[in-house]
Amino acid sequence: MCGVFGVVLPPGGEQSAAALASLGLFALQHRGQESAGVAVSDGEQLMLYKDLGMIASVLDERRLPSLRGGLAIAHCRYSTTGSTIWENAQPTFRLGPRRALAIGHNGNLINTRDLLAQLSGGRGRLPASTDTELLTALLADEPAADTVDALVRVLPRVRGAYSLVVLDEKRVIGVRDPFGFRPLVLGRLAAPDSAAALAGPGLWGDDPGDDATSGWVLASETTGLDIVGAEFVRDVEPGEIVILEAGRAPVSVRFAEAKPALCVFELIYFARPDSYMEGRNLYEVRRRMGEELAGEHPAETDLVMPVPDTGAPAAAGYAEISGIPFREGLIRNRYTGRTFIQPSQTMRHRGVTMKLNPLREVVRGKRLTVVDDSIVRGTTTKQIVALLRRAGAEEVHVRISAPPIYHPCFYGIDTQVETELIAATHSIEEIRGFIGADTLGYLSIRGVLAALDLPYDRFCFACFDGNYPDPVPYDAASRKFVLEEAEPLSIR
Ligand code: SF4
Repeated sequence: MCGVFGVVLPPGGEQSAAALASLGLFALQHRGQESAGVAVSDGEQLMLYKDLGMIASVLDERRLPSLRGGLAIAHCRYSTTGSTIWENAQPTFRLGPRRALAIGHNGNLINTRDLLAQLSGGRGRLPASTDTELLTALLADEPAADTVDALVRVLPRVRGAYSLVVLDEKRVIGVRDPFGFRPLVLGRLAAPDSAAALAGPGLWGDDPGDDATSGWVLASETTGLDIVGAEFVRDVEPGEIVILEAGRAPVSVRFAEAKPALCVFELIYFARPDSYMEGRNLYEVRRRMGEELAGEHPAETDLVMPVPDTGAPAAAGYAEISGIPFREGLIRNRYTGRTFIQPSQTMRHRGVTMKLNPLREVVRGKRLTVVDDSIVRGTTTKQIVALLRRAGAEEVHVRISAPPIYHPCFYGIDTQVETELIAATHSIEEIRGFIGADTLGYLSIRGVLAALDLPYDRFCFACFDGNYPDPVPYDAASRKFVLEEAEPLSIR
């Protein structure tokens, strides 16, 4: 996934772009927890700070003051190409013959090997092993005088998923691939002394400010705009480049025809429920998925229970339609982030109990409908069912508010190997047996579309139906480490 954020401060503003970008990134932490970083420009030169770890531990108050300037981009990483090592943290930075560039990338390229063949000097010139590093090198090398011209020349050769925030000395630039697999939104930041700014975050009312006094923000999700008090303007369109400068209206350049295929999993599970995509609030979308699920797979039980946190909206919808009481029966420990805790073998053995604890008084003697948003490998769901049975549940009926995942994703989600997907190799009845549930039901693609109330051809559904909008050109299995000739350098 990854979270990206970009900001151009309003003219005359005294805020720190690095601080604002870090704040914006906090609203995107769920999109990647492996590393974080921020790059700034003061109009003359770029500076960068990045490290492995969660945003709060990397971008703390001691480091931000030295990152001065009115332009910034920020990134939090979830790896799909390249190991979790410092070198692969983003933003990337490269000083080329024509320009200095920093880039934050959400997505995953699918023709990395072909692009590598186009890089003069080859793999040896890359200090890291990500597709983003390669893209940055290609852009920095491009002889075009202007960064936007370089983007227009290079991007048509690039395939796969990329929502980018690009920083050069003078501008922040947003880019979305022609399919728009990953989201990217544009927001407006009010001048500090304007009525809009004084009204407070998200309360712009009738005064959205004007282009001459505004700053601009790019974010993976609208939650990134909300947290910095920016007003939503619009999505960056698939195949579009948006150039941002303080006190000027954004300039749009189209580099490819739009063939929209937004990842439907963003709406089902990845993005925050308080985000908006395609004009839809995602909590509402997920609640309606639960309603559809109740219609498709009813169960006679005493309670409807979510797997926290992401199963909660769908469980609420399921409970409303079925008339079965909604009750929380699993409590999530929010402080077991994988960056902070490297479990020992004994701890790892404890599996899901490190993250979830059952409320025995709620669960004991009850027939439960347990609602979750996906089953990937099946091992977590199996442990949750066992946990609930140990806590005294009489029956456990599992309901999933998404279709079975039959196919790997090559566009930015780390499910690139088919054999790791339980639905690719087992029947629904076999999966039910494996997870130890009394019954199992998945929402259909038709049910997802009914909840979205949008047409199929606006989305990518490839992991459910194998219909890849941008076909993958070569073997999938080695993709994640395609730029690491030997074994992965280190995996956390
Ligand atoms: S394959 Fe699945 S996870 Fe990947 S972009 Fe398409 S819908 Fe999203």
